[in-house]
Amino acid sequence: MASYFDEHNCEPLGNNEQPNHALHLARLLMDSGIAAEFELEFDRLFGGDRKVPPASKQAVEELPTVIITPTKAAQEVKCPVCLGLLDEGDEAREMPCKHLFHTTCILPWLERVNSCPVCRQELPTDDPEYEEYKKQKARSKQREFELDTLHNSMFG
Ligand SMILES: [Zn+2]
Ligand SMILES: [Zn+2]
Repeated sequence: MASYFDEHNCEPLGNNEQPNHALHLARLLMDSGIAAEFELEFDRLFGGDRKVPPASKQAVEELPTVIITPTKAAQEVKCPVCLGLLDEGDEAREMPCKHLFHTTCILPWLERVNSCPVCRQELPTDDPEYEEYKKQKARSKQREFELDTLHNSMFG
């Protein structure tokens, strides 16, 4: 017997079904008529004290290009940005996190932001300052972890 989900042709809520501001932003970017709104939202989301740089050109070029096969199309995967189906013959890009987008949907985004709009996994950038900032952030996290471990071993 077909399951409820099969019958209703829908899936249980996945991660990408939750409100996602980055995704909303990526959709704004697709619609050049509301560029001003994009800039506003972009600042709110990624402005802060450390503006995010675009993904490095090389990293973008190295993203695998996927031509959607009939088998893939049959899975009815949707592009998270435009919410259109990834149709047979469509050209898509696969991010390192395995999220799949139409090439035309993800490239304008990566020219602005270095992370996946669905899960925020970051791509490398060409911005040495930002890369240094990322390293420092990782280091201070590591230090926190070490202090915690030390604390636990002394008082645990
Ligand atoms: Zn798309
Ligand atoms: Zn992702």
